[in-house]
This record gives sequence, C-alpha cells and structure tokens, in this order.
Amino acid sequence: MKAAPFSYARASSVAEACEGLRDGDDVKLIAGGQSLVPMMAMRLTRPRRLIDINEIAALKFVALESDRVRIGACTRQCALERDDALAGRVPLLRQALAWVGHAQTRNRGTVGGSLAHADPVAELPLVAQVLGATLVLASVKGSRQVSAFEFFTGPLATAARPDECLAEIHWPMWPQPRTGSAFTEVSRRHGDFAMVSAAAQIALDGDGRCIRASFGIGGGGSVPRAFPEIAGRLAGTRLEEDAVKDAAETAAAEVDFYGDLHASAEYRRHLGGTLAARALRAARDDAIRKQAA
Ligand SMILES: Cc1cc2nc3c(=O)[nH]c(=O)nc-3n(C[C@H](O)[C@H](O)[C@H](O)COP(=O)(O)OP(=O)(O)OC[C@H]3O[C@@H](n4cnc5c(N)ncnc54)[C@H](O)[C@@H]3O)c2cc1C
Repeated sequence: MKAAPFSYARASSVAEACEGLRDGDDVKLIAGGQSLVPMMAMRLTRPRRLIDINEIAALKFVALESDRVRIGACTRQCALERDDALAGRVPLLRQALAWVGHAQTRNRGTVGGSLAHADPVAELPLVAQVLGATLVLASVKGSRQVSAFEFFTGPLATAARPDECLAEIHWPMWPQPRTGSAFTEVSRRHGDFAMVSAAAQIALDGDGRCIRASFGIGGGGSVPRAFPEIAGRLAGTRLEEDAVKDAAETAAAEVDFYGDLHASAEYRRHLGGTLAARALRAARDDAIRKQAA
C-alpha cells in the first residue's frame, strides 16, 4: 500500500513548525519517520500535510546541567546512545536504547518522536515515567511543561494538543553517587517491540540501604507506568529478595494486562512481575558495584 496524497514543507525553526501546525488536526510533524512513515504507508494515518523538523538545529542538543539533562526533541536516538557523558549522568537512557529497534532505526529515530508517538510498548516512554521526565511543548501560544505522568494518556495518545511541537525533554539526575539502574524486556526477537519491559533505578546509602527507588513496567497496559508508592516502601530496606519480589508482584497486579496472539494477559502479568524483580535486582547490584568502585 502507498501513503495517501500529502503535501510537504520543511521548517527551519520551532516557530515556523508551530505556525504550520495551526493549519489543522491533519497536519503532522515528521522527525525520524520511523513510526510515521510505516503508519502512512499502511494508511493508519492520513495527514494532509507534513512539516519536516529535521533541519531545526534548536531541537538537536544534549545539555548537562547540575540536576538534570535537557535533550532536544529531534536529537537522534543513536546520538544519545553514543554519548558517554550522558550515559554517566542518566545511564538508564543508554540501557533502554539498546533495546529500541535496530541500529538503522536508531540512526533516524528521535527521542521526541518516540515519546510523541507514545507506543505503550516503547522503551523511552517507560524511562520517562521511571525518571519523572518533564516534556516541554511549544506552540504559537507559548510553551508549557507537562510531566511524563500527565503526558501519556493512552495507546498512541498524549496530552499534547495537535498544534503543539515537543521541543525538549528534561531528565532528572539523581545526585547520590551510589545510584544504579537497569532496563530489561522480553520480545520475540531482539529488536522487536517488547512484549513486556521493566526499568528500575535505585540509590543506596553508604551502608547499602535503599534511600530512593523508582521502577516501572511497560507493554502491559495502555501506557507504561511507574509505581512511586510501591517503590517508596523499598526505602530503608537492603532490597532483600522478599522485598524485591513483593514490590514487583504488587506492581504487576496493578497493571491491566491485555492478551493477544503473542501472549495471554496471564503470561504478560507473570512477565511483568518477573521482569520488574529482575530490573530491581540488577539496579541494586549496579549501585553496589558503584559503591565498591
Ligand atoms: C523496524 C522498526 C523497529 C522498531 N522497534 C522499536 C522498538 O523496539 N522500540 C521502540 O520504542 N520503537 C521502535 N521503533 C520505532 C522507532 O523507535 C521510532 O524512531 C520512534 O517510535 C519514532 O521516532 P521518529 O523520530 O522516527 O518519529 P516519527 O516517525 O517521525 O513521528 C512519530 C510520531 O510523533 C510525532 N512527532 C515526532 N516528533 C515530534 C515532535 N517533536 N513534537 C510533536 N510530535 C512529534 C509525529 O507527528 C508522529 O505522529 C521501531 C521502528 C521500526 C521501523
């Protein structure tokens, strides 16, 4: 199948892209095109006009600040993957990107495109939830900030209005030196979309006790989710096996897993609990390694 007819324009600034988006709901931005083009080719979406944001230099940057990293929405996934300074500050991003599609798709795909597309099984939306990222949305009316928690509203649905361009994403950094993180998932083949995924970040004190924890599960329900209340109960523990399993299974029980031809809802729930526990243990061990180093 081929895409329905559409017109194309290249924007050279965020203001120009926002101006173009005023034309109506059937105008879409195109970034890496790795999700939009297949959807257009299958006629799952039929934009009347595409606005290409690939040439907008102001949307491509990585800025390391004292307590957060700001990343321009049109920064390629491969650029983040190769950025050692970024991996030192927000390691969960590199850990997650290793699971995102293939080297070829990461060469074109952008961080903002992945978040704006909001596939419930995508890795970067899960990282955004676990780290509590903030998304900056620009439009002709000005810009506003939305938390990841508010941003993802359903499968392929977000709180962004049709006239808004995702401009940048703020990823908080945890100041504790003994912070570890991990990302894991199960898919039919490496590079396929995840059936279920899990991510965790843990900070330990000098005595090996958890002082802060965050974890989440993706691919289970309509949006990837973090579980701040359950994670909060891990504070003060040494993340012993019982505490880890209890947190992971309690979280998995809260997700409304669906079944399809690849896996039943019951199997996905089993994966959710198993992977969340695996991510928590791996993040704890990563923090212990950093403590020893
Ligand atoms: C073979 C293959 C395998 C893949 N496997 C995975 C995988 O395992 N995990 C995974 O997460 N993804 C996977 N993907 C998708 C890939 O990660 C895409 O890069 C990503 O989903 C979309 O990013 P993009 O820059 O290509 O966006 P595009 O395809 O250009 O756009 C996607 C959507 O986001 C909107 N958009 C883009 N940028 C902005 C912006 N700045 N502001 C507002 N809206 C915007 C577009 O209008 C469109 O609706 C795969 C893709 C392919 C082709």
